[in-house]
Amino acid sequence: MNFLKELGIKKENFGASTGLTWFKTKDSGVIDVISPTNGCYIAKVFQCSVSDYRKVAEISHNAFLNWRNIPAPKRGEIIRQVGQKLREFKEPLGRLVSYEMGKSIQEGHGEVQEMIDICDFAVGLSRQLYGFTMMSEREEHRIYDQYHPLGIVGIITAFNFPVAVWAWNSAIAAVCGNTNLWKPSSKTPLCAIAVQNILADVIKKNKLPEGLFSLVIGKGSSVGEQMLNDKKVPLISLTGSTSIGRHAAEIISKRFGKTILELGGNNAIIITPSADLKLAIPATVFGAVGTAGQRCTSTRRLIIHEKIFETVKQSLIKAYESLKIGDPLDKKNHVGPLIDKSAVKEFKHALGRVVEEGGKIIFGGEVLTGKSYKSECYVKPAIVEAENHYSIVQEETFAPILYLIKYNGDVSNAIKIQNDVVQGLSSSIFTNDLREAEEFLAHSGSDCGIANVNIGTSGAEIGGAFGGEKETGGGRESGSDSWKQYMRRQTNTINYGTKLPLAQGIKFEI
Ligand code: NAD
Repeated sequence: MNFLKELGIKKENFGASTGLTWFKTKDSGVIDVISPTNGCYIAKVFQCSVSDYRKVAEISHNAFLNWRNIPAPKRGEIIRQVGQKLREFKEPLGRLVSYEMGKSIQEGHGEVQEMIDICDFAVGLSRQLYGFTMMSEREEHRIYDQYHPLGIVGIITAFNFPVAVWAWNSAIAAVCGNTNLWKPSSKTPLCAIAVQNILADVIKKNKLPEGLFSLVIGKGSSVGEQMLNDKKVPLISLTGSTSIGRHAAEIISKRFGKTILELGGNNAIIITPSADLKLAIPATVFGAVGTAGQRCTSTRRLIIHEKIFETVKQSLIKAYESLKIGDPLDKKNHVGPLIDKSAVKEFKHALGRVVEEGGKIIFGGEVLTGKSYKSECYVKPAIVEAENHYSIVQEETFAPILYLIKYNGDVSNAIKIQNDVVQGLSSSIFTNDLREAEEFLAHSGSDCGIANVNIGTSGAEIGGAFGGEKETGGGRESGSDSWKQYMRRQTNTINYGTKLPLAQGIKFEI
């Protein structure tokens, strides 16, 4: 496979790097990477040891001590070059994302495009890391705030966006003057190794220090725990399940570290009677089955007004019947496999539970076998009539299951259902009624970090701040002013006069 060669993926790969240097540990366990697309063995990765982790963190910290003093626009120039390299490698890297993770090739390339976009964003940002100037109440005084880099930013990523989430964090963190230490999911380590190889040219050409971009591939319970407890890592951006995020938050907060938590979602679309179904149906289908329902923003609940419930249901069934399921590297297919067999088990388990609770599977739900399915990870996306209070509906099942939930009366009833889950990531409404749309966006409307009108729950652009509320963790990354989380704010008051007036007019004379 040429794309593996182009990306520097060998039969045997190492799990720790500080840039150009790879640590050659072989006795800390091995990951055998299997493609969910066809069940074929791809390559081996030797996991990083705890002692490797410590050395990598030390080197990364030392790199920070210099990198923080490089002017931000010059740091931006490095990220511009990273973006250029990603453009060169978009085709093979997108292909690897699809082959190792199982998402469609279009989505694989889309993920690399997101990396390129965030690099462009970060380059501009490198000249815009602004603070405010305030008006002092004292004569001949000036107050302003400025932002300083933090140190090492630990980036722990989930399997479902094996490269984009690293880029959202690292491009911004780097222009802000931090160094990056990445622990990818052990389900997609080759994508991370490929990115590290792509960075190597930029590192070499610019004679950048070891430790600016570092990688540690290893178990959450060893390398991950080291990072959570490491005082040298002042900020950890963790993308993953709510249970891992909760565990990480407890450990990191004990040492007063900072976190950006991007955790599970349970996203809903509301369809009101005035909705344009020509928009609502395809948006729902893409949201529910795209990436085989393995996006944090996947549409999991569809809250439909009773007046149009049957029409929407029939249109969805028709659309689902036309879906092509199969090898995600074949462009004609819409839906690829789940990441592994345990995800298939979860899918089946969730469907069993929803039926036990009174739900009705009205489409799909089968595990697909036969010649055209080259692994045991292909399933037929399911549509289920359900109620919001079912315990399984309240949970995030990382698979293509869409729950249809009926509402009656006005839109406030639908919003109540939409908010009545513990997660708060993404939400949408389809309506042509201005009042309904505004009610959805008002303070009393959607309680999610993302609230859209007439577009679906998934497929965010990099320009906005991305993240969610409640058990989604409260983090924001990517665009808007998310960069502020990667820096420490400092307020500076300067007295350029000859007197020492105290604030609030307090007199203290000696
Ligand atoms: P996961 O929670 O199993 O793993 C996430 C990461 O945490 C992995 O890198 C894993 O190795 C690491 N980890 C595990 N134990 C650890 C420990 N003790 N210490 C440190 N790190 C540890 O998640 P997953 O299955 O890879 O991804 C799916 C989940 O991620 C879903 O819940 C999904 O909603 C969520 N997700 C959220 C967002 C978002 O932006 N909100 C984006 C993508 C995925």
